[in-house]
Amino acid sequence: MRAQVRCAWCGHSRCNRAEMMFFSNEHSSPKLLQLCLDTLHRIFCFFSSVCFWTLRRLWATEGSHVSPVDRKLEERQIQSTTPASVNYHFTRKCNYKCGFCFHTAKTSFVLPLDEAKRGLKLLKASGMEKINFSGGEPFLHDRGEFLGKLVQFCKLDLQLPSVSIVSNGSMIKENWFQKYGDYLDILAISCDSFDETTNQLIGRTQGRKSHVDNLFKIRNWCQQYKVAFKINSVINTFNVDEDMREQITELNPVRWKVFQCLLIDGENAGEAALREAERFVISDQQFEEFLDRHSSVSCLVPESNEKMRNSYLILDEYMRFLDCREGRKDPSKSILDVGVKEAICFSGFDEKMFLKRGGKYVWSKADMKLEW
Ligand code: SF4
Repeated sequence: MRAQVRCAWCGHSRCNRAEMMFFSNEHSSPKLLQLCLDTLHRIFCFFSSVCFWTLRRLWATEGSHVSPVDRKLEERQIQSTTPASVNYHFTRKCNYKCGFCFHTAKTSFVLPLDEAKRGLKLLKASGMEKINFSGGEPFLHDRGEFLGKLVQFCKLDLQLPSVSIVSNGSMIKENWFQKYGDYLDILAISCDSFDETTNQLIGRTQGRKSHVDNLFKIRNWCQQYKVAFKINSVINTFNVDEDMREQITELNPVRWKVFQCLLIDGENAGEAALREAERFVISDQQFEEFLDRHSSVSCLVPESNEKMRNSYLILDEYMRFLDCREGRKDPSKSILDVGVKEAICFSGFDEKMFLKRGGKYVWSKADMKLEW
């Protein structure tokens, strides 16, 4: 029977030091060695946990927000993400000069048509169901022919359930609808105000053309050529007090997307930016007040800064995913060089937020049960 040995320091018989005294009394060196190793292991584990916890706290408070460990986990999650809905900003050029524009004309590059088609094919093979063509102004390049050919390719060749466009509407001609309207599911036109003076102040205009008259004309063409009509509005200091209920109800879009003006470093904020959008920014409360005023409009889909930031899969003119997690657009490598699976790891895409903001909806015009 083992004699009870009490620790000389604390007096307890179960203390490690008491155990050591017992074994040293019995000259049992292998057991003593094992005990030392166990103790060292426990000390090491304890200090590792403390260091890990401290580093995570530091990363969280230093503004980087995401630790390398969390970033790795996120990337693994993103890697398994399907690019169901992709926004391809194939051009940065635009004929408007909106003061808050967050995809500015930093380059004039546009991929050759065959390369753009190759990239779209890769996306389809990775699970893309919806493509949205955006810019810049997508109808500007080659007078809308480049865009028309991509729209046709995505619907006819790739058989995508949904093909859509976001445009300022100023460059669209009726013959474009005659040629390509069948292949387009949704056309979204940006309109922030029904007051032309406000549109002038925002920069959403060109010369003396009326942005609002154009909007009504395009709504009629959409009806005539069986394309679902949508409106996008950016709420900012110039339109935040406006009441748009009457005009939106008259235009009757399938969706009215209402965005809170967002700052993106390098695009519309910061030193390297082509815009200074700070004077357009509104508070969360102002945005809520605008939404409250328009709560009776059933097609309204609100998008606060929080919902908007990382919930879009954005491809730039080189077919690189743009990661907005750090408040700027950090590009991945091009999907044309490394494939979708590798590039998407650097997209910063938040799939949960995409679903939370209603990113998946009835997006094929065939399923919308519209009265044309
Ligand atoms: S219409 Fe769109 S792309 Fe053109 S300047 Fe305005 S926000 Fe930017």
